[in-house]
Amino acid sequence: MSRRRVERTYLMDEDGAMAQMQMDGHTNQQPREVALDDIAAAMAGCRLCTLGDTRTNIVFGSGNAHARVMLIGEAPGRNEDETGSPFVGAAGSKLDGFLERAGLSRDGVYIANVLKCRPPSNRDPKPQEITACAPYLREQIRSIWPDAIVCLGNFASQFVLRTGKGVTALRGRLHQAGHFVVAPTYHPSATIYHPDWADLIVEDLGLVRAWLDEHPQDDKSMRKEGLS
Ligand code: SF4
Repeated sequence: MSRRRVERTYLMDEDGAMAQMQMDGHTNQQPREVALDDIAAAMAGCRLCTLGDTRTNIVFGSGNAHARVMLIGEAPGRNEDETGSPFVGAAGSKLDGFLERAGLSRDGVYIANVLKCRPPSNRDPKPQEITACAPYLREQIRSIWPDAIVCLGNFASQFVLRTGKGVTALRGRLHQAGHFVVAPTYHPSATIYHPDWADLIVEDLGLVRAWLDEHPQDDKSMRKEGLS
């Protein structure tokens, strides 16, 4: 069986992506060693950036803690801020539909955002906010240790792939960042203004679905064979 080609990048630490835990007291743990509940407890009441002063709830993330696929969005919106859950409301419904069309399910993935607190009026995240919040996301990724990461939008794509390129230039193919296969795609909310992007999101999610099918979970050689 021919293997899907993956664009190889070294924008994260090669083979040691996020090799060190970033939060105080969490150094040198192995992947999946720290439970998500422990990370959530560590960030309770966080005020590391000013978003902590205006949020209603921290939106930590939700889903399958052992998922092979982790989706990363940008930041909580109003519905997320009110409920404390990611991708609820209209954006969540859109995402659920895209996942279903691609042969993935919400129950089988884990979803988190780059920022855990809502920026006022849903403005873009500021660099200092991303820097302040990054340790939590890195810890989540290391706790779940998925095979594939889907980056929803520019901020998640640039964070994970450590690039200044926009998602339009990055999407449409798989990237390899350390341990992870990475699929950048548009944020579901963007389809409100660009309805034609819905099919592109499904197409990008479909790349992940196909990659998973080609690389069963117990196939330890998968990451090397798929590389271009
Ligand atoms: S956005 Fe992140 S760093 Fe800023 S207050 Fe919220 S949890 Fe803390």
